[in-house]
Amino acid sequence: MADAQPGDHDIVFVGHVDLGGVFRGKGVVGREWPHRCRWGVGWPPANLMLTPFGVLAPNAFGSRGDMFVVPDPATLVAVPAIGDAPPLRLALGHLRSADGAAWECCPRAYLEGVLADLEAEAGLRLKGAFEHEFLFSGLEAQPGDAFSLGAFRRFSAFAADLVRALDGAGITAETVIAEYAPQQIEVPVAPVTGLAIADQAAVFREVVRWVANGYGCVASFTPIAEAGGVGSGAHLHFSLLDRQGGPAAYDAASPTGLSAVAASFLAGVRRRLPDIVAVTAPTVVSYERLQPHRWSAAYNTMAVRDREAALRICPVRPGTDRPEAEQFNMEFRATDGSANPHLVLGIMAAAGLEGIRDRLPPDLPFEGDPEDFHPDALERLGIERLPTSLEDALARFDQWGRALVPPGLADAFVAMKSAEIASLEGADDGEVVARYRAVF
Ligand code: GLU
Ligand code: MG
Repeated sequence: MADAQPGDHDIVFVGHVDLGGVFRGKGVVGREWPHRCRWGVGWPPANLMLTPFGVLAPNAFGSRGDMFVVPDPATLVAVPAIGDAPPLRLALGHLRSADGAAWECCPRAYLEGVLADLEAEAGLRLKGAFEHEFLFSGLEAQPGDAFSLGAFRRFSAFAADLVRALDGAGITAETVIAEYAPQQIEVPVAPVTGLAIADQAAVFREVVRWVANGYGCVASFTPIAEAGGVGSGAHLHFSLLDRQGGPAAYDAASPTGLSAVAASFLAGVRRRLPDIVAVTAPTVVSYERLQPHRWSAAYNTMAVRDREAALRICPVRPGTDRPEAEQFNMEFRATDGSANPHLVLGIMAAAGLEGIRDRLPPDLPFEGDPEDFHPDALERLGIERLPTSLEDALARFDQWGRALVPPGLADAFVAMKSAEIASLEGADDGEVVARYRAVF
């Protein structure tokens, strides 16, 4: 954004969401900005191995080597000072080596590559937005709060400031919701295309945290904030566009509304879901959320308008101001705010592209509650329970899912997540939840 250009004494935080889902980088002083757009900020390769708790996993990089986070000037945003929150300037970058080449371990470069393949091979682009749920500590919890005007009244000043701050970051908030759980808020935002879907999610999380801090409060995107509590998801709503930018996912004549190519894409994602869920739901507490009857995703089901499905076909409404083909979208629910949005979108798109390459036939939408089905019946339908722990999900990713990402990235992810799991050994449920809540 042109008006985001920093003055000499403004600071631009140049960073990326790392493999652990944390936004890390360095502040660049405004007078350095033009130079740093080319040069970047120095980044030891070992930083790749930081767990979300800030501890380095064992790694071969050690103290050696130099990478750079090189900002993409198109991502520069400036959020004005709002309330007691100071102004925020942010830019996202790629991890590059000294010769300027993108590092195979860079999550943003990975997503870019997958999106380029999807466009080159299938003529498709993605349009979408992550729909985040988060807890705001400034919203005093009261019984019966869900969706109530009473709850809204208690956080409406924060909501109005947040909408303004998001505008400053180029993100268009659409609705403001007092969600089901105590202190839980959701602010769906307008869809964008391609890389910007993940960039927008990364910036959204930080702007929410920034404005919350201005209130002397915190916002948490942790998937589970209290042992046994309600989960927070970061559902990914998406559709497909053709080369002309027209909608490509909708076919009014098909029973699900899915076009043939969208059905293959979705079947590819469904087939791979158990292999990739370690990436999309990447923390120990993610698996407390992915349980049956929590309106998240416990099985690799695709269903029409069912919030227990991992892949949900969302409704279209005839006779409104937007054509049905433009309204039509699908929802990937097996992800949360502890995940790296670039990796989530990248690996989902890679799985979908595989489905297109393999010309997968449309899945039959699942009907009913998988918990009521005999395991043999589920097997016949190709439905399986998603891994029930990060450890199991990681083993599955290490064996099968890694084929969808560059080898160096897969190795680093598995090693870093293994260290994260090991670091929680001996902690009881309450401590585990509290540790993640403090980070996310
Ligand atoms: N909180 C639920 C989740 O963990 C989602 C509820 C909803 O459908 O918005 O995904
Ligand atoms: Mg919700």
